[in-house]
Amino acid sequence: MHELGIVFYIIRDVKKVAEENSVGHVSKVVMSIGEVSTIIPDYLTDCWRWAADKEPLLKGCTLEIQQVPAVSYCGDCNSEFGTVDFGKKCPLCGSENTWLLRGNEVEIKEIACD
Ligand SMILES: [Zn+2]
Repeated sequence: MHELGIVFYIIRDVKKVAEENSVGHVSKVVMSIGEVSTIIPDYLTDCWRWAADKEPLLKGCTLEIQQVPAVSYCGDCNSEFGTVDFGKKCPLCGSENTWLLRGNEVEIKEIACD
């Protein structure tokens, strides 16, 4: 499962930050997850619960997910539009000279300690 791999990646990063800051227990991790990333938030939190509780550092730690809407940019008319609604084609001028501005991220945004 893809989400489990991401969870292990998050745990590794959080552990590193906790070690560097001599933190004994982390109570909350906030993630930014892009709307068009391949992550399914429900799977991610399920995997998190399972994996995090095995780590003393992360036992009972909450995973909060903040979804980032996907936005594309049109290089021909310089407008921004919702990627999920319109895909690759600009709704204003019909151009396909567009690219994703944001919405593909999988990032740790915040780590809260006890
Ligand atoms: Zn356009």
